[in-house]
Amino acid sequence: MNVEIQLPEKVKFIIDTIMEAGCEAYAVGGCIRDFILGREAADWDITTSASPLLVKELFRHTIDTGIKHGTVTVMLGKEGFEVTTYRVDGRYEDGRHPESVTFTASLKEDLKRRDFTINAMAYNEQSGLVDEFGGLKDIENKVIRCVGDAGERFTEDALRMMRAVRFSAQLGYEIEEKTSAAIRKLSERLRLISAERIAVELTKLAVSPHPEKLRTAWETGITKIILPEFDRCMETEQNNPHHCYNVGEHILRSMQEIRPERVLRLAMLFHDIGKPETLTEGPDGTSHFHGHPAVSEEITRRVLQRLKFDNHTIQTVTRLVLYHDYDILSEAKYVRRAVRKAGEDIFPLLLEVKYADMMAQSTYLRPEKEERLLAVGEIYKQVRREGQCLSLKNLAVTGKDLIDRAGMQPGPALGETLGKLLDMVIENPDLNRKETLLAIAAAESAGGK
Ligand code: ATP
Ligand code: MG
Repeated sequence: MNVEIQLPEKVKFIIDTIMEAGCEAYAVGGCIRDFILGREAADWDITTSASPLLVKELFRHTIDTGIKHGTVTVMLGKEGFEVTTYRVDGRYEDGRHPESVTFTASLKEDLKRRDFTINAMAYNEQSGLVDEFGGLKDIENKVIRCVGDAGERFTEDALRMMRAVRFSAQLGYEIEEKTSAAIRKLSERLRLISAERIAVELTKLAVSPHPEKLRTAWETGITKIILPEFDRCMETEQNNPHHCYNVGEHILRSMQEIRPERVLRLAMLFHDIGKPETLTEGPDGTSHFHGHPAVSEEITRRVLQRLKFDNHTIQTVTRLVLYHDYDILSEAKYVRRAVRKAGEDIFPLLLEVKYADMMAQSTYLRPEKEERLLAVGEIYKQVRREGQCLSLKNLAVTGKDLIDRAGMQPGPALGETLGKLLDMVIENPDLNRKETLLAIAAAESAGGK
């Protein structure tokens, strides 16, 4: 087929070196797809008929990355390229990993083991594009389609079901009918997949240009297995003037309304996840969700721990969730209070969360809500510009000052006093002077004795 792909020099060098040794070599998979799409390829992978042993002989610096599966990383300068021997995966007994792999001399056999047609193309300058399964056509038609029988492919490796949705979200493609029917049938098998691998795919979906494709994950039964909390949201209506979608649809919309930053997209995914549990109905049939941020926070922590997210992410996302609905009046004092409560580190993110949340609600009172939020943002900037104290970091006294000059002892009381001083300074920034605060602290500790 007449597609020309500009291979990076180093990739060409690797392919040429292997071919000079009498073997075949091609750039393959994601990099070919991305080049055709005009996207920057994350990494260039090479597939070859050469044995891992030969690859190791041909290049000076190699690393045995996945030698059992035929993968050797060739280092050229600081850059590494995965070179994998053509292989056929053996039987999958566990829905995750092939029991064994066998090497093969046939490129086509190697392409057949790959997940989707758009990921199963290979290229080198001698042969041009090798597209045995219609990947190019599927790119043109914007379709995610399994190579071969979808049911078999998902039974081999259940993670592919999430990859299908993730690629559809990254590229804005539809999942072909037989492929999506197979997901519906086999989604239960995602229970075989480790939390870490699921988290990777969920995150890629969340930060993609189409996070609303999470709806496809719901329709096909994927979230029922990996995130059943979300299914409940899709079943919870909001009869409330502030809203025009059910909880799940509001969540999807809010994800679309925020920057594609990991913690922000996750915060939107979880901000209302506690709503189903807190639903009450007023006498007129209005839905209320009193206390939902705290319940959402709890569920968020539980889910993120279940998915093995790192502590820093859990910390950040749960705080954004807890404070997403915290009312901030547009006066410096209230803004400072909110910063103190939520934490200085996440406050600008919190404003983005609140904005996206608003944009995903009905237009009821939208101008007022927006005006207030923008005003809060301006006041926050002003407070920052003036260097006003918002956290212990900028308090005019430290714990050491209190020990050296206010007669206090190390211990929990010290932290408490610092907290109280900060609270006072938040209410009245003029107090943030060393002598003033030391005097207050000394009086306090004397009074406490
Ligand atoms: P990205 O790097 O953007 O996540 P990718 O398509 O490059 O996408 P990788 O995980 O880097 O994905 O895998 C490289 C290639 O290996 C894929 O393009 C595909 O051909 C094949 N592949 C990866 N994972 C699987 C899988 N679970 N089942 C079958 N083939 C896979
Ligand atoms: Mg890749």
